[in-house]
Amino acid sequence: AYMDGITCICDNGRTLEDHRPIVGDDVISGIYRKAASLQGKRVLHVNSTYQSGGVAEMIISLVPLMNDVGIKTQWNILNGDGDFFAITKNFHNALQGQAIAFSDEEKGLYLRTNEFFSGQMKIDHDLVVIHDPQPLPLIRFYQKTQPWVWRCHVDLSNPNADLWEFLKDFVRDYDRMVISHEEYRRRGMAMEQWICRPAIDPLSEKNRDLSDAEIAGLLAKYGVPTDKPLITQISRFDKWKDPEGVVDVFARVREHVDCRLVLCGSMAPDDPEGWAIYRQVEEKARAFIESGDVILITAEDHLLVNALQRASCVILQKSLREGFGLTVTEGLWKGQPVIASRVGGIPLQIEDGETGFLLEPTDTDGFAWRIRQVLENPELRERLGRAGKEHVRQHFLITRLLTDYLDMLNAELA
Ligand code: UDP
Repeated sequence: AYMDGITCICDNGRTLEDHRPIVGDDVISGIYRKAASLQGKRVLHVNSTYQSGGVAEMIISLVPLMNDVGIKTQWNILNGDGDFFAITKNFHNALQGQAIAFSDEEKGLYLRTNEFFSGQMKIDHDLVVIHDPQPLPLIRFYQKTQPWVWRCHVDLSNPNADLWEFLKDFVRDYDRMVISHEEYRRRGMAMEQWICRPAIDPLSEKNRDLSDAEIAGLLAKYGVPTDKPLITQISRFDKWKDPEGVVDVFARVREHVDCRLVLCGSMAPDDPEGWAIYRQVEEKARAFIESGDVILITAEDHLLVNALQRASCVILQKSLREGFGLTVTEGLWKGQPVIASRVGGIPLQIEDGETGFLLEPTDTDGFAWRIRQVLENPELRERLGRAGKEHVRQHFLITRLLTDYLDMLNAELA
């Protein structure tokens, strides 16, 4: 994907047909059927970054597929500056429950940035999908002639009340709100609140099959040795992903098993806290980093993520909050056991003991115990991995997300 002004161009050359061998004829013909009444309709997605993080990851794969089935789909980026993203990151944190103090000035900058981008973005589409809080107020600056959908990817189960009070006013202007989980429903909203689970693209660089040689080459390129079992967490350096907690868990495991931890987190342009969290982790894991037992990576490389997920013996996702957790889906799709927190969208993906293991996010000993169990038991790894992959095939592939979008378009544009 690349930017042309505020438009993100993301033709990956793949078509719906490419997915047929993975999901089967019924899914593909269902999609063509649902798309028939939508030919030539024009849809716009707007979010705030074209890389790093789950939202961009999904839109990048969804846009070409929507175009392939006959819906003219465009993607614009509300590419704010550092001050704007500092504010919206605070919003993100507060939506996930953290206390917040936000001034009128900050509210003003938030609105002005949206107003500025409204001057750049011509919106005459049949339907508009606005992702997350960053571009939420855009709707204020248009004469609305089509349905607008607010797609919120954040865990909304317990938002900071003051912030929600402020954002709610904008949300109310929308025709529909889309959330990832039943528990994120907000009371007192008149519009439809529709649940749509995220999904991954099995053919993207992040998820496609890799040969052993490709995996070895990628790991070598980034200096990840494979002489010991690898434990991996792929996550932005974000306090909600609890990278420091992962180091604590690793320290317990390392007392018993000779293994290595990789924390891989690229720096997202709309997440200004990344480097500060990174340095805290670096400080905490210093001795392990010096001995080579902990490896921190900040590169943005989808093939590397893919290779790490495939080469690892265990995938961790020790989040304190998690809207959905695409990294869990990605790990399961690679047939890996995923050991993760029982928070947000993760239990939708992991059935404890069947497709992975769930723990309370603060249960350091529990995490360490499960990791050891999985490391020491290849049959268990096999069994969890096989079930996890099948679960993703059934529920969390991009073709299912596309099907949901077509249902929504049919409902809104009928
Ligand atoms: N990701 C990546 N490189 C990294 C860290 C994360 O490509 O170094 C990707 C990851 O593979 C996943 C997405 O970013 O596709 C993260 O999505 P998730 O829903 O897990 O969390 P979010 O970042 O949206 O909170």
